[in-house]
Order: sequence, then C-alpha cells, then structure tokens
Amino acid sequence: MEKINLRIKMKSNIAINSYLRQQQSLFGNELYISKRDNKDFGESISYNKLVSEEDLEKYRISICLCKECGLGETRNNFVFGVGDPNAELMLVGEAPGKEEDLKGEPFVGRAGKLLDNILKAINKKRGDGVYIANVLKCRPPNNRDPLPSEVKKCEPYLLKQLSIVNPKLIVALGRVAGKTLLKMDVPLKEMRGKIHDYNGTPLIVTYHPAALLRNSNFKKPAWDDFQWIRDQLIKYQ
Ligand code: URA
Repeated sequence: MEKINLRIKMKSNIAINSYLRQQQSLFGNELYISKRDNKDFGESISYNKLVSEEDLEKYRISICLCKECGLGETRNNFVFGVGDPNAELMLVGEAPGKEEDLKGEPFVGRAGKLLDNILKAINKKRGDGVYIANVLKCRPPNNRDPLPSEVKKCEPYLLKQLSIVNPKLIVALGRVAGKTLLKMDVPLKEMRGKIHDYNGTPLIVTYHPAALLRNSNFKKPAWDDFQWIRDQLIKYQ
C-alpha cells in the first residue's frame, strides 16, 4: 500500500478530478492505491437466478409485525432491508439506529451516507446490484448491542433474505454481523482479511461504517476491502 498526498489543484481532466474529489471526500487528503494481491474467491461460483421484488415483499409482509422479542414493542418501524432482489453483493449490518427506525430503511443516517459514498466509489449503489439488511430488524433502545436472545429470534429472517437474494458475495459490516453469520466470537481483526464460506457463498468481514466515522485509521484497510470487493464483482459481470 502506498500513500501519496492528494493535491486537487492540478489541472486534470474532469473525470479524474471528480474521482479524486470523491476519494478526498471519503478518505481525506490521502489517496490510497492498493497493490493488488491475487486473492479471489475462485471461478466456481454459479450465478443464475431471477428473483422478483415480490418474493422479498411477500416475505417482508409475512414478518413485519414480529413481536418475537421486546424490540417489537419499542420500535417505530420494522427495518426489513432494501435493495436489488437480484443483488450480486449483499451487505449485512448490525441493527437499525434512530434514523433507520424512523424511516424503516437500513443505513440512512451518517454511517449510511458514508456507506453510500463508499459504494459510489466502487461504482455501486443501493438498489442496483446491492442489497442491504441488518442482523436485527428492530432498533435496540439507545443503540445498545443486540442481545444474544434478540439475535437468536431475528437471525432466521436474515437467513431467509440471504437465501432469496442469493448474492455472489456477502459482506458483513462490523463484528456483530460477522460474529452472527460466522458463529465466531472473536475480534473483528481475526475475521477480517479472510474469505469465509457462508453456505457456499463467499463472505468477508470488514469495518462497520460507523467505526470509520469514529476512527479514521480504519479507512485505509476498509478501502482495501472495498477495492477487493469491486474487483471480485467485476469478474462476474
Ligand atoms: N448501523 C447498522 O448496523 N445498521 C443500520 O441500518 C444503521 C446503522
């Protein structure tokens, strides 16, 4: 990984300029250029399915009045998930926060805006090749960590979404999502940097966007991960 200073004053063409500005808004005055490694998830993934919006909507309707745990009493909205039912990339976060609970959509607060910008930087956007969901569908009060009992009740909903969308690649955002999907109670750094297998679908774990907002040291490794994600997805277009 090389780090170079970014000076946007140079006269460059519009496309380069706009790319550099986008990088600057995401990662500050440093441009990260990754030295590609050859890691990938192989050629063995088959991808042929067509899921309609209706399949997910039917499923949403069947579970959206859930009261299996106490969060069903305190939520404003059940936050099912959002995006392309035929997504190649499925992002899994932890649980809705305040704004998600109010809007009924995952990742719409500050962390969500950063996530949208990161997706834009790899030429993706929610709803177009990307599906976003959380482990928990309802907001834990004061954004506390999900309780194991809540995860236990809610996880089958996520698993069903994963089986409907059937993405080519799953990205767990943060430790809670990684630990839930991988059944591994270890620090994020032990889950990150590996290609895991999730019922036959490759899964990686990267930083939660809220962690990037709290600690800018995580931005460089997170950007490496998203560049890797971009490169993997290009192979299957
Ligand atoms: N954090 C999450 O994990 N999910 C959201 O939807 C919002 C913030």
